[in-house]
Amino acid sequence: MPSAVLAKRSVLAEALYRSSADWLIGSTCRWSGLLVLNYHRIGTPNAECDPDLYSASQEEFDRQIDHLKRHFEVIGGDEVASALSTRGRRILVTFDDGYRDNYLAAFPVLKRHGVPATFFLATGYLDRPMVPWWDEIHMLVARSSGGLIPDLDGGDYEFRPKIDDRLEVARRVVRRYKLIPTTATGEYLDNLARGLGVSRVAPSEASDLWMTWDMVREMKAAGMSFGGHSASHPILAMCTFERQKWEIEQCRDRIASELGEAPTLFSYPVGGPNRFTAETTELVGAAGFQFAFTFSRGWVNNHLTSPLRLSRAAVESEIGFSLFSAMTYLPNIFC
Ligand SMILES: [Zn+2]
Repeated sequence: MPSAVLAKRSVLAEALYRSSADWLIGSTCRWSGLLVLNYHRIGTPNAECDPDLYSASQEEFDRQIDHLKRHFEVIGGDEVASALSTRGRRILVTFDDGYRDNYLAAFPVLKRHGVPATFFLATGYLDRPMVPWWDEIHMLVARSSGGLIPDLDGGDYEFRPKIDDRLEVARRVVRRYKLIPTTATGEYLDNLARGLGVSRVAPSEASDLWMTWDMVREMKAAGMSFGGHSASHPILAMCTFERQKWEIEQCRDRIASELGEAPTLFSYPVGGPNRFTAETTELVGAAGFQFAFTFSRGWVNNHLTSPLRLSRAAVESEIGFSLFSAMTYLPNIFC
């Protein structure tokens, strides 16, 4: 979220929170529908990985879940259909990607509170752990002592660590990557590493990055739900038709084979408005998914437009508790 927008929302949320938290809970805020919260990672980022993937520390997550449990009906992944057809203030807690901190840091909190959550898995990362492209880009920039970044913002960019902000440069490269056809992304990362004078990140660095299927089964037995998030987490809009179909069906098949039932929920990788197409949505529906979630801000009121394009509200590490609670009390203003 642009920082100016975030700052404005935070100031407003803080003012509301200080003036009267009780008022917020009162009858004026009785929205009805489904608010889907989107998390990625829980914990504190290290110096090299993509910090933008961190949604909350474990302590913050604990406070957020406690709040949700006390004021709303937090539903499981199998209750989406019924939540959309009846009135109520329902929350669906979702996680994208399948990072191991979901199991190590989020799951214990969810278990302690008896609150369900839904986890969307990029199944290829569980099957063959490797560092995903967004983390690898941040790691390559963090490890470089300078060089040339190919084709950034229209031309080659000279990266000078003494002058440049590494985090900002890595974010620019991530944005650039999202516009590259999937068939050319491997070559782009090769050229990036070469230009920055560093090696590509080895899969061995991801040995404990992702959940295992045993962890997933343990979480499912404890009431957690699982959905699809593609096999290798490409930008689906940048894939050929055949590749999109394979990504969607492969992740469905892997989850069905590991968990014994086909998933009915899907979330689009990097699911902003231009990151998937009408073709993607059709393929997701044809593969048997009943509901699909985007990364477009918002909440779902009961006037549903498309069950395969449901909005979510991102939980980001820079939002304070005031803004988090305002998002839940007044989603029409704060989500
Ligand atoms: Zn993702």
